[in-house]
Amino acid sequence: MELEMDKLVSLCKRRGFIFPSSEVYGGINGFWDYGPLGVELKRNIKDAWWRDNVQMRDDMVGLDCSIIMNPRVWEASGHVGGFSDPMVDCRATKERYRADQMYVFAYVFPATNSKGEPTEAWLAGLGGSPEEAAEPVEKRAAKLAKKFGKPADPPVVTPYLQIAADDRIKVVGPSTDETGTLTEPRSFNLMFKTFVGALESESNVAYLRPETAQGIFANFKNVVDTARVKLPFGIAQVGKSFRNEINPRNFTFRSREFEQMEIEFFCRPEEAKDWYKYWRDLRFAWYTGLGLKSEKLRLRDHDPEELAFYSTATADIEYAFPFGVSELEGIAHRGAYDLTQHMKFSGKDLSYFDEEKKERFTPHVIEPSAGADRATLAFLCEAYVEDEVAGETRTVLKFHPRIAPVKAAVFPLVKRDGMPEKAEAIYRELKRSQNVYYDEKGAIGRRYRRQDEAGTPFCITIDSQTATDDTVTFRDRDSCRQWRVPAAGAVQALRDLLDGKAVPGAE
Ligand code: ATP
Repeated sequence: MELEMDKLVSLCKRRGFIFPSSEVYGGINGFWDYGPLGVELKRNIKDAWWRDNVQMRDDMVGLDCSIIMNPRVWEASGHVGGFSDPMVDCRATKERYRADQMYVFAYVFPATNSKGEPTEAWLAGLGGSPEEAAEPVEKRAAKLAKKFGKPADPPVVTPYLQIAADDRIKVVGPSTDETGTLTEPRSFNLMFKTFVGALESESNVAYLRPETAQGIFANFKNVVDTARVKLPFGIAQVGKSFRNEINPRNFTFRSREFEQMEIEFFCRPEEAKDWYKYWRDLRFAWYTGLGLKSEKLRLRDHDPEELAFYSTATADIEYAFPFGVSELEGIAHRGAYDLTQHMKFSGKDLSYFDEEKKERFTPHVIEPSAGADRATLAFLCEAYVEDEVAGETRTVLKFHPRIAPVKAAVFPLVKRDGMPEKAEAIYRELKRSQNVYYDEKGAIGRRYRRQDEAGTPFCITIDSQTATDDTVTFRDRDSCRQWRVPAAGAVQALRDLLDGKAVPGAE
C-alpha cells in the first residue's frame, strides 16, 4: 500500500495528532501544534532518544541551554555570515522560492513567433528532485500545448542555479504564465532576528537559535570543569530550533519552528574515524529498533563534493516519505572545527588536557543531529496501515509499543453488572505507570477501531465472564487476537507485553 500524504494529514487532524498552528486565525505557514495524541507520541520519541543515548550510557551527559544566546556564537559558527539559502522572488506573484529547489524544464513548441523562431517556454517547477518538480510542470506544458501545439522533444531539465544568467528571462515562474518575472538568486539568512532589551537598535540584535549544537560547544568548558567527564564523552541536548525556511512544506517535515535531538561526541583526533563509524551505525539501528524496519529507511554516505569543508565524512539517515526520500538525521565528522572557531571568537581556551598522557589538544567531534518532528513524521508514515478485519477496512497505526501514545485502553463491555467499576479499578491501577485510556461509550467494535487509529497496542475488556472467573480479555492491535488474563495479573501482563516479553496466551 502506498501511503498518500493527504490521508495521513487528515488522520492527524481528525484524531488529534497534529494541527496547523493558530488555526482559528487561519494558521501560520511553517508552524504546527501537537494535539493530545501527538504530544504523547513526540514525547515518547524524545524520551526513547534520551534514555538510549544519555541515561543508558556511561559516556554521555545532558544539557539544556537557552534559545537566545550571545550573537557572537552565531558569528563563530558561521551562521551570521553563511547560514543562508539562495532564493528567488517572483515579481508577478510576490512569492519567494528556494533557488536550489527549483528545476527548469525547457520545452520547445512547434509554433513560431513573429520572427519565425520556434517558441520556447522554460517552465520552472519546485521540488527536492527533478522527478518531484516534474508532475505539475507537465500539467502546465499540456496547457501551453493547446496554444502552441505539442512540444517538439522531451524537455531538457536543469537546476535553476545552473542556467546562464542570460537565459533567466525565458523562465516562466512556478505560479505565473509569463516569462521573466523571476529575480536573480539572492542570499537569504535563515535565522529569526529579534531585539534583546527595550531598544530596537543594531547593537541589541539577537537570534533565535537555528540549531541546538552551538549551545553544547559554548558549554564545553563548563561541562569538562564540572562533570568529571573524560574523553571520549558526549554532550546531548533536545530542544527547539528556529529557521525562517523559505519554503516550509511537506507537513511538519520542513517547519520554521522544530525540535532537534543533538549529540556532540568528543574524542581524541586519532580515534575520530572509528567513533564516526560507530555513531553512524548506532543511530541507524536506533530507528530500526523502534519500528522503522522497512526498506524505506536508508543510510547515505555523502560524496566528497557534498561535504562541508571542515568535515571528512558525513552520512544522512533518510526515509522514503510519500513526498520523496528525505533526511531524518545527519551524522557528521566535524573534526576540531567548532571548538577551534569558538576559541578564536571568544579568546577562551577550549582545549582538553589528557591527565594520563599529559597531553593538551583540541578534541575532534562526531555530531549525530536528528529532528524530533521529522522522526515523528517518519514513524507516523511507517505505522499507517489500512487492512481488512472481518470484511471491513480499518485504519491502524502500528507503532512500536515504546512510542505508542496510549499503551492500553480499558473497556467495560457494557455499562452495568459491575463491569464499569471493575474496569475503572484496573484503569486506575495501570494509570500509575502507563498512559492508558478508559472508554465505556458505544459498541465494543467501534471502541477497538478508535484505538487502532490511535495506535494503542492493547485493549483490555471486562466482560460477563470477569464476574465468574475474574479474568479479562486482552486484544492485540496488529493481529486482533484475543486471550484471557487473570484480572489480578493484568498490570504485570501489560508491562511484559510492552517490554516485548512472552506472555501466556498472547503468542
Ligand atoms: P535540510 O537540508 O533538510 O534543510 P539540514 O541538512 O539543513 O536539513 P541540519 O542542519 O543537519 O539539517 O539539521 C539537523 C536535523 O534537524 C535534520 O536532519 C532534521 O531532522 C532537523 N531539521 C532541520 N531543519 C528542519 C526543519 N526546517 N524542520 C524540521 N526539522 C528540521
